[in-house]
Amino acid sequence: MSIIKIKDAIYEYFKRDENGEVMETVQAVAGVTIDIEQGEFVAILGHNGSGKSTLAKHLNAILKPTRGTIYVKEMDTREDRYLLDIRQTTGMVFQNPDNQIIGTVVEEDVAFGPENLGVPTKEIWDRVLKSLEAVNMTAYREQSPNKLSGGQKQRIAIAGVMAMEPECIVLDEPTAMLDPLGRKDVVEAITELNQKKKITIILITHNMDEVIGADKVYVMDHGKVVLKGTPREIFSDVETMKQYGLEVPAPTELAYRLKKAGLSIRTDILTKDELVEQLCQLN
Ligand code: ADP
Ligand code: MG
Repeated sequence: MSIIKIKDAIYEYFKRDENGEVMETVQAVAGVTIDIEQGEFVAILGHNGSGKSTLAKHLNAILKPTRGTIYVKEMDTREDRYLLDIRQTTGMVFQNPDNQIIGTVVEEDVAFGPENLGVPTKEIWDRVLKSLEAVNMTAYREQSPNKLSGGQKQRIAIAGVMAMEPECIVLDEPTAMLDPLGRKDVVEAITELNQKKKITIILITHNMDEVIGADKVYVMDHGKVVLKGTPREIFSDVETMKQYGLEVPAPTELAYRLKKAGLSIRTDILTKDELVEQLCQLN
């Protein structure tokens, strides 16, 4: 069953002059159709300005399409009566952890979302504990978020979204400001939410290594979906990826270069281990 249906979505930003007259329209999303299944781990790739963030903001009705339709569990995001339900179904995590943390103590910060939803106090604390556990941050629950690393803050932000018990979490470049260790922890937390709690994940990222575990990858360019497939299908086409200004994982790139240099080797590999296996069968 699909949880999110994006149908022929178009979104236009208006650039206005000082008198408020429209000078120019920018079509940031230019006709996107995507069906996301419940429980899926979906990754969205694309260079800067390709429309990823604009599309993401449609998934919990921060933006509404200029034309076309977005359904979240059959709820049309243009209808205001669904707004609360939609926001409860789809949680959002953004790039900068500092802008997302409001509490002065970690557990208060995580409690903020369910409090706003009017969840009874006892249940709030159950949810806070469960959410902190899910992102492996229980030990920090009484600390001040200020003292945490970027990766830890981002996991607190994810716990805050989880405490609202969404069925789907959209993460817009959640690791862009993190160091490699912070990135790894955040990706592990996301993967676990998907595998153990069956939460649908939509991950927007620049980091190819984070995409390898996804069920499906969509590549955006100029507001359109230009490629769609499994990570293996998408990355094995190194030349097309480069055309859209994107890298592929390092082992895939190396296999591609070796093949180009004349080695008889498969190029649809994703990991170091697969590369080693390919190299070992050469004679
Ligand atoms: P991405 O997240 O892939 O980098 P965005 O969705 O942020 O892409 O932007 C897509 C396009 O929309 C870009 O051309 C960008 O300049 C334009 N854009 C984004 N936000 C605004 C805005 N608030 N007003 C006008 N244009 C915008
Ligand atoms: Mg963006």
